[in-house]
Amino acid sequence: MSLKRTLWTVAALAAVIAVGAYAAFRLSPAVQDAVMARAARAQLTRSGQLPLADDALRVLLCGTSSPMPRRGAAKACTLVAAGGQLVLVDIGPEATENLNLWRVPVARIDTVLLTHFHSDHIGELGEFNMQGWAQGRRTPLQVYGPDGVEQVVGGFNAAYAPDRGYRHAHHDHGKGLMPVAAGEMQSRVIPPFKAGEAPAGRRAVVFERDGLVVTAIEVDHRPVTPALAYRFDYRGRSVVITGDTVYYPPLVAAARGADLMVSEAESHELLEILAGEIATTGDARLAGVLRDTTNYHLTPVQAAQMANEAGVRELVYTHIAPPLVAKPMEIPWLRGVQAVRPRGVRIGHDGLLVTIPLDGGELRFEALRD
Ligand SMILES: [Zn+2]
Ligand SMILES: [Zn+2]
Repeated sequence: MSLKRTLWTVAALAAVIAVGAYAAFRLSPAVQDAVMARAARAQLTRSGQLPLADDALRVLLCGTSSPMPRRGAAKACTLVAAGGQLVLVDIGPEATENLNLWRVPVARIDTVLLTHFHSDHIGELGEFNMQGWAQGRRTPLQVYGPDGVEQVVGGFNAAYAPDRGYRHAHHDHGKGLMPVAAGEMQSRVIPPFKAGEAPAGRRAVVFERDGLVVTAIEVDHRPVTPALAYRFDYRGRSVVITGDTVYYPPLVAAARGADLMVSEAESHELLEILAGEIATTGDARLAGVLRDTTNYHLTPVQAAQMANEAGVRELVYTHIAPPLVAKPMEIPWLRGVQAVRPRGVRIGHDGLLVTIPLDGGELRFEALRD
């Protein structure tokens, strides 16, 4: 048989099998149920995407968008894993869906650190708390933040009070399966950062737990006060998460020698183009709102300068603004960065997992899949 004829025969056979399989699926409930079971099994056995072994400090980007929407990117969210401890920094809208789709064990995340209270950093606190509780968290979620965190947490707790009641009534079965107390978040104010005070670059240890030291660093995101960055140190390795800020020397000092800096950044040049186009549509108000943001965010070049001055090994951008709607737009977004910092720079995306091995090895980057 000629090669051509063999190929045609194989293709015809494949088509017959495909049509037969579809017909069997369409007509047989038993086949449909088997497919469902197989798909569920495949999904459930992929649960090890975020390794929890105590061999590295790990950082997972669970939201990399600014308030401007981009399909496939949640708002501010970064997860740090150290020695089995899972700590979330900010929980912006859509981030819980990411964590659930990647099968991160959200019930094991018992601590959230808020950098500040802009909606893109706190918007999904209520939903995240509910999901962790429903998935089996036995203790109340601890939510740390500066002065004002009591008000934010109290508000979410109040808004979700009816839902806590419904779910407890439906799922607890009188056996303590969904205790109400575990569904109500507790706020933890990080002293000494007081609302209304001008930033002074102060630092405070948030907690020290099983070798993990978390430090809050005051940054400058005025008129938002206080606004914090966080540094995680674990067994000689470290990551700094900038939150929202301008170029700020005290943050450089606090980030000294970190292995990784996860920094927000906004291209002011691209944002100006976007604002200009919005203005031409007649919406001068919205164009003005966008332009206002340039005086309290870092540019990609400034973030690179800070990473250099602090001697940071790797810089990963997050809170990307304006949205990079196509891959080639990374080129103008990064304009000027190459000259400042030719290596150790990358644009983050939802699902980027950075592994910082405890044995001192090189940082590794990989992508989690849905
Ligand atoms: Zn902000
Ligand atoms: Zn923000």
